[in-house]
Amino acid sequence: LVAMWQAEIRVDLDAIRTNLALLRDGTTAEVMAVVKGDGYGHGMVPVARAALEAGATWLGACTLGEALELRAAGITAPVLAWLLSPGLPLHEGVAADVDLSVASLAGLAEMVAAAQRVGKPARVHLKIDTGLRRSGALPTDWPALIEAAAKAQTDELIDVVGVWSHFACSDEPGHPSIDAQLDNFHAALGVAERYGITPRVRHIANSAAILTRPDAHFDLVRAGIAMYGLSPIPSRDFGLRPAMTVRGRVMLTKRVPAGQGVSYGHTYVTPAETTLAVVPFGYADGVPRAASSRGPVAIGGQVHRIAGRVCMDQIVLDCGDAPVAAGDLALLFGPGDDGEPTVDDWARACDTINYEIVTRFGSARVARTYD
Ligand code: PLP
Repeated sequence: LVAMWQAEIRVDLDAIRTNLALLRDGTTAEVMAVVKGDGYGHGMVPVARAALEAGATWLGACTLGEALELRAAGITAPVLAWLLSPGLPLHEGVAADVDLSVASLAGLAEMVAAAQRVGKPARVHLKIDTGLRRSGALPTDWPALIEAAAKAQTDELIDVVGVWSHFACSDEPGHPSIDAQLDNFHAALGVAERYGITPRVRHIANSAAILTRPDAHFDLVRAGIAMYGLSPIPSRDFGLRPAMTVRGRVMLTKRVPAGQGVSYGHTYVTPAETTLAVVPFGYADGVPRAASSRGPVAIGGQVHRIAGRVCMDQIVLDCGDAPVAAGDLALLFGPGDDGEPTVDDWARACDTINYEIVTRFGSARVARTYD
């Protein structure tokens, strides 16, 4: 309670359910709720539960650890984990019915070993690199991987549940790489079919592609940022409802004359006599240090700027002559209903993307509460 009074991340699970309903309305595909990164800072397990209530049928966890955490919470829906380094205890994933991504022959061999150890087929999604050039098998390696996977499936060591890929530039509608990646994906599916592999779910679309490219939906779409109510294309409004609000109480105010250096390094000097307000959020809580002298914070409906450097635990605001007092509610960002800054305002101020802002704020120190 003490922590909640001082600094709080409020998560509106209804907004998450509403956003998911909006995404579902736009597709006939199943929806995977991407809950990695502690649910983009919103809390992995509560978000997963809300998303499943709202009709998501899959969960996307990046790491094996995240997937196992979902299982430990009693969640039985299909979960895909895709960030798998060599040498992980994949048998734990197989035993817990976690779907696992495979992008190489070495990865396939590990999956087969895990299946043999557990005594049941591993559920795998074969990943093709259609152009992101991150994870995934290059088209040149694809036939060998597909052939080996087909054999392992015949031997009942794996079950190829999915074939999948990921876009590089879906947030730039019209970018030529989108069509090129789709062509490569279709080609890879054709190769799979020739080897007798017909996956139950083919998937490539993230939020931007869900909202702009229905031809990329296939059987399953993977919704991350849009489910959290943030636009994957900030110049476009898709009618989503931001789920996260970050707020705290002013700890202390002080009236200072013009010409005073504020915070470490005195990088900000008060331009006039002003009221400074100290707010208990710092970079340990997710405030980017890049927000120094730039980040916006609303108190009593008026937006103020951070004065000087963001500290580990605190920021100082230059509030001018506004009637700000200790105990006042300071809103770093919210849905914007009352004129408070939004996540996108923070992303612009910090020269980053909305994804990074919300994910950073999922810090363990700040109390997270759910509406
Ligand atoms: N699929 C994969 C493989 C991802 O890494 C991510 C997140 O970055 C997503 C889907 C969800 O993307 P978005 O948040 O843009 O919907």
